[in-house]
Amino acid sequence: MREHAIAAIPADGIGPEVISAGLEVLNTLSRKMGAFRLNVQTFPWGSDYYKKHGFMMPPNGLDLLRPFAAIYFGAVGAPDVPDHITLWGLRLAICQGFDQYVNLRPTRILRGLASPLRACKPGDLDWAIVRENSEGEYAGHGGRAHRGLPEEVATETSIFTRSGVTRIMRFAFQLAQKRPRKLLTVVTKSNAQRHGMVLWDEIAAEVAKEFPDVAWDKMLVDAMTTRMVGKPASIDTVVATNLHADILTDLAAALAGSLGIAPTANLDPLRRFPSMFEPIHGAAFDITGKGIANPIGAFWTAALMLEHLGETDASVRLMEAIETVTASGIHTPDLGGRATTREVTSAVCDAF
Ligand code: ATP
Repeated sequence: MREHAIAAIPADGIGPEVISAGLEVLNTLSRKMGAFRLNVQTFPWGSDYYKKHGFMMPPNGLDLLRPFAAIYFGAVGAPDVPDHITLWGLRLAICQGFDQYVNLRPTRILRGLASPLRACKPGDLDWAIVRENSEGEYAGHGGRAHRGLPEEVATETSIFTRSGVTRIMRFAFQLAQKRPRKLLTVVTKSNAQRHGMVLWDEIAAEVAKEFPDVAWDKMLVDAMTTRMVGKPASIDTVVATNLHADILTDLAAALAGSLGIAPTANLDPLRRFPSMFEPIHGAAFDITGKGIANPIGAFWTAALMLEHLGETDASVRLMEAIETVTASGIHTPDLGGRATTREVTSAVCDAF
């Protein structure tokens, strides 16, 4: 029996609801298949932990996580703790501490779901968006001076390094090469941002030469939003900076039906550290505790985690079960249905 050690960090808001649903689905799948077992340890980190201890995770948090094969993460955020503390104290501390430099966000319209785009058929929207996850606008470089005075100043410097841009471009071209259409769009803003984004474009052109079989084009981020809405079928694989892709992937999730279904993998492709898997949505306080959070994003996330662990059959079976349930019309309210988290979870477990 293959065993995988998983660290679960449900954290805040609907995070605990969707992660416990995801673990139930994973355990049911592993029992039914009998081929692998997940040894899950849950860490109680997040905003409540911060209110008690003064930090989102203990100072040796990364050391505690390092031995695990993967991290299954919920969501962070609390109405009474500033967002930059919750984000930098846990999620970004793990992503950056473990150099998870790829944030991969697949998006497609699952069976039985509809896009808000009237003319969009399911096959028209099947994208893999690669987000640079280690530098760029989220490099954390900057500062504030003269706090509270009229002269107050704050800087937020984006950082683009040759090594950082090269490795994300290479990952994106490799991914595009593996997908049937072999088509990559490099998102940029080099008309207005004439240093970092120009380096980004130059390196894209250099790396492209290593992949002569991949067709690629370049798109300004603003134009990309209109292309996603107007011509979704013209897009396949996309690579964008940390901030640009953050925004584009929320749009992508909404175009595929709901923020509640979309998954994310924060990958260290070199496998020096554990990679981290999380639904794309946040803490969603408006629905926390109501039992109606859509767990599909956490399930699809679990499928990405299984694939990363080498459990490809299990990953495919999980996606099939998810789509059997979405196709059967068992939908939570965000998808226009009346099902609860519990009902969707049980239906997926029954579909294995
Ligand atoms: P963040 O600021 O961290 O992105 P948030 O709580 O402001 O998080 P999101 O979680 O990103 O917002 O989601 C915005 C809204 O989408 C939520 O308030 C909720 O109504 C809806 N939503 C998000 N995820 C889900 C889900 N899994 N199930 C149902 N509705 C969801």
